[in-house]
Order: sequence, then structure tokens, then C-alpha cells
Amino acid sequence: MSKVDALFLTHYHSDHTLGIPDLWLTGWLNNSRKEPFRLIGPVGAKSLMTSLEAAYALDIKIRLEDEKLSPEGIATVVEEFEKDGVVYDRDDVKVIAFTVDHGAAIKPAVGYRIEYKGRAVVISGDTRYDQNVIKYSAGVDLLIHEVCVARTELLSSNPYMRRVMDHHTSPREAGQVFSLAKPKLAVYSHLVFLGSDKIPRATVEDIVAGTRETYDGPLQVGADLMSFEIGHTVIVRQRNP
Ligand SMILES: [Zn+2]
Ligand SMILES: [Zn+2]
Repeated sequence: MSKVDALFLTHYHSDHTLGIPDLWLTGWLNNSRKEPFRLIGPVGAKSLMTSLEAAYALDIKIRLEDEKLSPEGIATVVEEFEKDGVVYDRDDVKVIAFTVDHGAAIKPAVGYRIEYKGRAVVISGDTRYDQNVIKYSAGVDLLIHEVCVARTELLSSNPYMRRVMDHHTSPREAGQVFSLAKPKLAVYSHLVFLGSDKIPRATVEDIVAGTRETYDGPLQVGADLMSFEIGHTVIVRQRNP
């Protein structure tokens, strides 16, 4: 398993936080992690982590006693930020948080720009079409963007799905972001396919076709365990080496 130095949160929707206990607790087993688990996020990170520590207190107590695991490895360090700007700066790696628009009630919500020795990657986080993503990702090496796709019939007939769609970026809109930011490579992550009992989900092909209406540059649809090597060009690997 590769080492994780810090976990960055973009916002507090459960699909973005459900994995925290697993990473934190399972990553401790067999004494695999001996330093504190470091969590960095907008306001909300501290109360989330404090509550998880309370929820898993008995498991932690049992394992400390029974498995003799290192107390340092289950400790947590939470860094919460209120404003956009640099939120991590060490070993030549700089991470800059910027506010994105994930909907009026979904606050805070941020994206991240990661800089290292003249290279840069931007992760949009969950967002609607947002100028801030374009601003922070201008000329970036890698732009990782969310996307949400649905058939037109679904959006016109289902108000709940319309509302979900309004919190995200359509393929056509993401293509506009890519065309303006001009990354060396644009990558889709967090692919949301909306559908219902009556109306089937759209497909990956629909995402690509929609994007191509507004963007003709390099594009990759992300998949689990995909990794990227960033040099003069960006190399895509289907799985971690
Ligand atoms: Zn979300
Ligand atoms: Zn999400």
C-alpha cells in the first residue's frame, strides 16, 4: 500500500467522507502507520474527526490493548481552514485551496491546486461550472474535474434529478472549462450517471460526446486506481505501479 501523508477534504457530502474511517483505522492495522493520521479540510473537519474518534473509541481501546498497536498511528492531526489560499507547504509541495460553487446550501466546498517544482495539478472537487476552477487551472499540467450526465427526458420529468444536476457540471460545461484552462491533460473523476426506473442512465460515451461539443484537447475518463506521471508530458497508468 502506498503511503498517505495527508488526506484533503473538499466538502462534507457523505460520498466524500465515508472512506475516512477505513483509511484511518484499517491503515493502522499491523502497525502500518506509526505517525498520526493527518486530515486537512475546510471548516467541519475537526468536528467530523472528533466524532469519528468517539464513534470508534471502543475499537481503538481494544486494539491498543489486544494487538499492541502504536498509539501514535491512531492519533489524528486535523488542520481546518476558513479561507482560500495555501493550506499545505512542505517538501516542495504546495497545496492551494479555492472555493467552488457546489450549490447555495453546500458550503464550504473547495477545489485544490497542487504545485511541485514547476508542475501543477488541479482537482475541481464537486462543483457546478465555476470561473474559479478556470482561474486556478489556467495552463495546468493536469486538470481533474467532476462530471454529471443525464438524459434530457430525465431532467425535464424529474425535479429531484434536476436539482442534483444543478449541483454538478455537465460534459458540455466541463468541455468549456477545459477549453478555457487548456490543461496538458483533462481527466474526469467523480462520474455521476443519473437515471431512474423509467429512464436509463447515460453512458461514458455520452460524457465524451458531450465534452467534444466544446473541447477538442487531450481527455481521459478516469477509473479506479488510475495514476498519472507528470513530466514534459502527462503519462496515464491504468493502475498504480
Ligand atoms: Zn458533493
Ligand atoms: Zn460527490
